[in-house]
Amino acid sequence: MKTIGVLTSGGDAPGMNAAIRAVVRTGIYYGFRVMGIRRGYNGLIEGDIFEMNLRSVSDIIQRGGTILLTARSPEFMTENGLKKAASMCKIFKIDALVVIGGDGSFRGARDLSKFGINVVGIPGTIDNDIACTDYTIGFDTALNTVQDAINKIRDTATSHERVSILEVMGRHAGYIALYSGIAGGAESIVIPEKGLDKDEIIRRIIDGKNKGKLHNLIILAEGIGGATELAREIEEATGIETRATILGYIQRGGSPTAYDRVMASLMGAKAVEVIREGKRNRIIALKDGKIVDYDIDEALSMQKSIDEYMYNLATILSL
Ligand code: ADP
Repeated sequence: MKTIGVLTSGGDAPGMNAAIRAVVRTGIYYGFRVMGIRRGYNGLIEGDIFEMNLRSVSDIIQRGGTILLTARSPEFMTENGLKKAASMCKIFKIDALVVIGGDGSFRGARDLSKFGINVVGIPGTIDNDIACTDYTIGFDTALNTVQDAINKIRDTATSHERVSILEVMGRHAGYIALYSGIAGGAESIVIPEKGLDKDEIIRRIIDGKNKGKLHNLIILAEGIGGATELAREIEEATGIETRATILGYIQRGGSPTAYDRVMASLMGAKAVEVIREGKRNRIIALKDGKIVDYDIDEALSMQKSIDEYMYNLATILSL
């Protein structure tokens, strides 16, 4: 009987549990033994590995976080750490390793594949910043969390006729900011891909006020950062009370949305299917509405850019 190992690595994301569940259940359905590995690559190095069964993943599809726990593993990035991880795969007879995580975790998986371990990556990060895929598990849930926050901030900002700055996650990318800015009707969206133009923001605030807008919402991506400082500068330049909110880790938690659960289920199942087909070293992706798989080197060499049309549309919609 062939064995699949599964781990979650890097930053957690809502929907990771649904992906683990899909890997375990489809794996067992197709006759694999499935081993869970705790705490990402750290658990692999330490041999924190246990056999999973159909009931190991009961009652988790609706839960945020990851039942396998996750970690960042500096040791795994050393030659010695990699060797230990590869030898654990051999000791536990893991034929293929499913890694649910972000770009960093996939780079780690590629390094491990050089030791003869078959690796399959499933994109799990709220940031949607993995180049080969249109979607990463957790993005939709994070957007809904941000939208909920925007609704609340908007209420109080309107009552006080304030400017609000909401700093959202996304690491070096602006996907959460762009999508939540459009969904929340932000007046300005500031993302690393486009940079920060303070004069333009101030012009739009004054323009909005003159047009009778009662509040002004700026969505700022953490890749730019400095929400508190920006609030102070805007208040000084416009004379309008300005408040900054840094949303933080609330964006990483919560019960996954239906979309995240479905995506995680499809991607988890696809990971098992590619292993079953005998493919090696793949990354699962959503491309043009279909679940596909790419060679890991090809996937990691791809580039992703912000949708210019969406970015421009956000400006038009906030007039
Ligand atoms: P994410 O997978 O969410 O992008 P990280 O970037 O923190 O999260 O990566 C998770 C783990 O993957 C790291 O702790 C490390 O063990 C491994 N990793 C990250 N980047 C690399 C890299 N460039 N090469 C090899 N391994 C990496």
